Amino acid sequence: MEGRIAIVGGGPAGMMAAIRAAGILGGGERVVLFDKNDRLGRKIYLTGKGRCNLTNLRPWEEFATHLHPNQGFLKQAFRAFSNEDAIRFFESIGVPVVTLQGQRVYPASLVAGDVARALERRVRVSGVEIRYRTRIASMSDLSGFDAVILATGGKSYPVTGSTGDGYALAQEAGHTVTPLFPSETALLPQPYDPGLPGLELKNVGLHLFIDRTPVESDQGDFNFTEDGMESGIAYHLSRRAVWALCNGQKVEIVLDLKPALTLEKLSARIVRDSITVRKDSLRSMMPEALIDPFLRANPGITAAGLPARLKEWRFRIVDYKGYERAVVTAGGVNLKEIVPKTMASRLRPGLYLCGELLDLDGDTGGYNLQIAFSTGALAGASAARYLLSLR
Ligand SMILES: Cc1cc2nc3c(=O)[nH]c(=O)nc-3n(C[C@H](O)[C@H](O)[C@H](O)COP(=O)(O)OP(=O)(O)OC[C@H]3O[C@@H](n4cnc5c(N)ncnc54)[C@H](O)[C@@H]3O)c2cc1C
Repeated sequence: MEGRIAIVGGGPAGMMAAIRAAGILGGGERVVLFDKNDRLGRKIYLTGKGRCNLTNLRPWEEFATHLHPNQGFLKQAFRAFSNEDAIRFFESIGVPVVTLQGQRVYPASLVAGDVARALERRVRVSGVEIRYRTRIASMSDLSGFDAVILATGGKSYPVTGSTGDGYALAQEAGHTVTPLFPSETALLPQPYDPGLPGLELKNVGLHLFIDRTPVESDQGDFNFTEDGMESGIAYHLSRRAVWALCNGQKVEIVLDLKPALTLEKLSARIVRDSITVRKDSLRSMMPEALIDPFLRANPGITAAGLPARLKEWRFRIVDYKGYERAVVTAGGVNLKEIVPKTMASRLRPGLYLCGELLDLDGDTGGYNLQIAFSTGALAGASAARYLLSLR
């Protein structure tokens, strides 16, 4: 009897693994994909604010700088299925793409559902047997299979089905899991001025301080929301900030409203333009809605003190949004236990792991889906070859 592959999890990693494996094995229902939901890729529908930033076109050297905690681990999987391969693949399954700001690639329709539906369709026509509404609770549920691919995702947005089951399955198979924490998530300042939620800031600077030491900076856009400092550059800093909070460290974020100007240049401009701390005068320095919160945060401020406060508005961060709203789960199955060339487990023959389940995550910008596609494609191809080698 010919062997069979079980794939646990029908997210982007599991679907890509299924397509690849079935492509090599030639269908015949030798690949069985389990998902607890009644449709595949539920999380994809939410990605990129409903538009799905499916990859990033930066060349590998730049791409790798957006991966954590191990930039090199993805290299071989990326080489086997790169960002350009992903674009060609999506165009071949009827999803033309468009590249927008920051080399971010989206479906041309800007509809995330188009990506999810096209992938699910492709899985179906590949001859993969899909078992919907089936939750795999233990590795022993898969004892009839010759190879297993774990693609269960992380713990973020559990409503989509990603509830962290895969960590227990991997541990059952002997793997270790590095500490897990939410990343790409909102950071809550305290005090938090009620005038701030709802404000979008463009082209500002953020500096992250941990125990009073500057550790990371970024420049760009972010939002103040009900949950705190969110999206864009705030998300980027959230990985280190959340980890520091988990470890009981003091976390501060300094907002620079004028990152393009040095303190000296800003001071000279304020003198030249006779800018004062009156509301009508401050309009040239910041969005109107920010003026009241700014003045409340800096009581008694004078024109002489204005440049320093514009470049250094300090927020003490006391909390973060948990898995229910985090874009990604940091930490995961220990990469030392995975062969980067095949995504095979070093501990159990015939076991492969891929996607967010691994201790590998990326910044926002299309990096996480590319991790899922690259590792999923490689795991699927490797598992199929393993099966063929058993003949
Ligand atoms: C709001 C939001 C927006 C995002 N936007 C982007 C973006 O624009 N670009 C980007 O690159 N990344 C984005 N991401 C991250 C990206 O979506 C994930 O990193 C990616 O989906 C991970 O893929 P995966 O296949 O590893 O896991 P998942 O997508 O989490 O899929 C795992 C699947 O496994 C199934 N499953 C879990 N346990 C079991 C079990 N025991 N039995 C059976 N099935 C099981 C689940 O139902 C699920 O379908 C976003 C994430 C969120 C939450």
